[in-house]
Amino acid sequence: MTTKTLALDGPAGSGKSSVSRAVAKQLDWVMLDTGAMYRAITWSVLNANIELSDSAAVARHALGTTIEITTNPQEFRISANGHDVTSTIRSQEVTDAVSEVSAVPEVRELLVSLQRKAVEDSDFGIVIEGRDIGTVVLPDSALKVFLTASPQARATRRSREINPDADQAQIARTRESIEIRDTKDSGREYSPLKPALDAQILDTSDLTLEAVVEQLVDLVRNTYT
Ligand code: C5P
Repeated sequence: MTTKTLALDGPAGSGKSSVSRAVAKQLDWVMLDTGAMYRAITWSVLNANIELSDSAAVARHALGTTIEITTNPQEFRISANGHDVTSTIRSQEVTDAVSEVSAVPEVRELLVSLQRKAVEDSDFGIVIEGRDIGTVVLPDSALKVFLTASPQARATRRSREINPDADQAQIARTRESIEIRDTKDSGREYSPLKPALDAQILDTSDLTLEAVVEQLVDLVRNTYT
């Protein structure tokens, strides 16, 4: 049986992770958070004290790193060479370094092949989210959605995920951090962040999580009936 796929891309803070998890739960599908994989490699590179600008050393290190990640939307865990990095990959240190590591072509090749394997291994359906899913990882996916939201909406969401009482100063700092990441992710030479030509664009700035999930579940049902 061919796996049903929802390829979900978008910039930092567009809500991809929460939306993917909720959609997968509703459909009884699995999900893959590919950003977590780039973060886990980044954690491992930092932990090994490798200079980020030495892309050959970063590539060598990545090739020797074993990433294990769950695809069950009810329970998320990720490890790098046996270290559980589920929480540490969300640190500011990893967030600030991840775009540099993810721009290294060998890192991308390695993770793209693991991502395709995860799709092959899922028997029924998978929501797979990231930056290059519709363009590179699964260019033949029957359903591709690119989530967008204004920088202010994304910064507010991200800040409130970390601290529900985040004030305007915190939101402004988060906005700066995600704009820097967006610029690097969209400007890189290999697999830049951009919608696939056949992706549907969904602006979530003024939508609740529930409304986005409902639209995506409807799209999946209409695509795979
Ligand atoms: O989605 P998340 O914010 O956790 O992604 C972290 C980083 O991983 C992104 O800023 C980007 O540099 C990289 N990434 C990527 N390709 C993907 C997913 C994430 O380059 N498919």
